[in-house]
Amino acid sequence: MRRKLVVGNWKMYGNLAWNKTLLEAIVAGVHDHRNADYAICVPHPYLCQVQSILQGTNVAWGGQNMNQFEGGAFTGSVAPHMLVDFGCSYVIIGHSERRQYFGETDEHVAKKVQAARRDALVPIICVGETLEERERGETLAAIARQVRGALQGQDAKAIASLVVAYEPVWAIGTGRTATPAQAQEVHAFIRSTLAGLADPPAAEIVRILYGGSVKPDNVDSLMAQSDIDGALVGGASLDAEAFARIVQFR
Ligand code: PEP
Repeated sequence: MRRKLVVGNWKMYGNLAWNKTLLEAIVAGVHDHRNADYAICVPHPYLCQVQSILQGTNVAWGGQNMNQFEGGAFTGSVAPHMLVDFGCSYVIIGHSERRQYFGETDEHVAKKVQAARRDALVPIICVGETLEERERGETLAAIARQVRGALQGQDAKAIASLVVAYEPVWAIGTGRTATPAQAQEVHAFIRSTLAGLADPPAAEIVRILYGGSVKPDNVDSLMAQSDIDGALVGGASLDAEAFARIVQFR
């Protein structure tokens, strides 16, 4: 049995006062729920604040990106060990917004995944097709390319311990969600691709999250799918009430 994982992605939102209110409300909302793992990925400047509010709770935290190098002349970048210094367990890698606006390629993603593993961070590797790829019938080819690209150089043990998030680009922040059947088809395909890269037992362990306009009114049907092991939640993670309902998926 894979334990479900619900991760909030705050993107580039927040300020100290607003974060405090939201984090306290999230902790209160999630407190009695121990049937899954929970995490929030926040902008780097807030990691210290998030660590001080979330430590000792059942909510973990992480970064939304990082550099693949441990140090160097990379102005504006954050190294993996810096996330570790602030207690991060997770790091989102290859989010479609990083690929789209910051030119991240599968090669960058692979290097960051390797760097995350070196520092014992759990990478949440995002993959997903664009609307054009879906309409051309190229969804599975795009996903296979991204999954294989991200996992270059990883052995079965490393693959078993990471998290993949299937995020159709056309569903992120748009209010359009993949139907549970569409999502399940791609999740099952990701698992079979992982089985080919690692081995079937390792692939069975990997948690594959769905992301793309997950909301209180669609979370239950998505989570009921056999290969959907949790959710990566953007917009709705900025609303404590909505996020609390999402973690109470049925
Ligand atoms: C995301 O940021 O990864 C995401 C899925 O956003 P949203 O839930 O707003 O679509």
